[in-house]
Amino acid sequence: MKIIIHGGFFSESSQSDETKQKKQNALKEIIDKGFEFLQTHTALETVVYTTCLLEDCPLFNAGIGSQIQADGKIRMSAAIMNGSDCRFSGVINIEKVQNPVLVAEKLLKEEDRVLSGQGAKQYANAQGFESFSTETEERKKEYSMKLKSSKTSTVGCVVLDRKGKLAVATSTGGKGFEIPGRVSDSATIAGNFANKHCAISCTGVGEDIINGALACKIVTRVTDGQTIESAFDKTFEELKEIDGFAGAIGIDVKGNMYWKESHPKIVFAAYDGEEMTFFD
Ligand code: ASP
Repeated sequence: MKIIIHGGFFSESSQSDETKQKKQNALKEIIDKGFEFLQTHTALETVVYTTCLLEDCPLFNAGIGSQIQADGKIRMSAAIMNGSDCRFSGVINIEKVQNPVLVAEKLLKEEDRVLSGQGAKQYANAQGFESFSTETEERKKEYSMKLKSSKTSTVGCVVLDRKGKLAVATSTGGKGFEIPGRVSDSATIAGNFANKHCAISCTGVGEDIINGALACKIVTRVTDGQTIESAFDKTFEELKEIDGFAGAIGIDVKGNMYWKESHPKIVFAAYDGEEMTFFD
């Protein structure tokens, strides 16, 4: 059993050591809980559970603590993918729900599995999700100061369960100050992808991740026989050619965990029950 999570990037310019420490501590606590949950649950259940914990932590840009867009509204995106049956579901630009990843989970059983905007919100309400404001004082302050301080701190989780099944979830408040209607990579196969061979979650500039088809490309390379390490390396080499800014975490079906970033410092934690690995 393996679990790896990320909380996006540290913003090099504006985040204090204290914030960094808080993020590290939060990730440690969350990965511990996620690993404990994994003892009695599937990979799919665990990525949803763990991503909820990340969404509920105001330090990260997903769920509570999401960035505010150019028109003053918060729109969030989240997706999950179950590796064993290759089913993807997600919500794009959903407003006023506490946990977008839970709405994505509900959609997994539907015929129409990716919903956006008002349709996603209406579906969530019909499924019993109450309206909830994810705005925090911190984000309001940043918005009023036109500070894009934590623009890259999406969250993600990849899990391999005891039966060898893989799953992935990714959730984001977007990049902050974006044009309303902009679509993040997080609820696309570029930012969140899994099959029975490998599962990947990305963070960084959504447009770069989409240009590089990151998650989908790494998974395809592993499926075609490359090691996870060389699949990451090749894909990030290609990203460099287009000057892309991104990071990714992943696990293959053999249990190899890997992560890579085009720029320092992706915030991640990985755990296999024995050894906890942290970013830098
Ligand atoms: N990838 C996200 C987006 O562009 C941002 C992030 O990872 O922080 O919407």
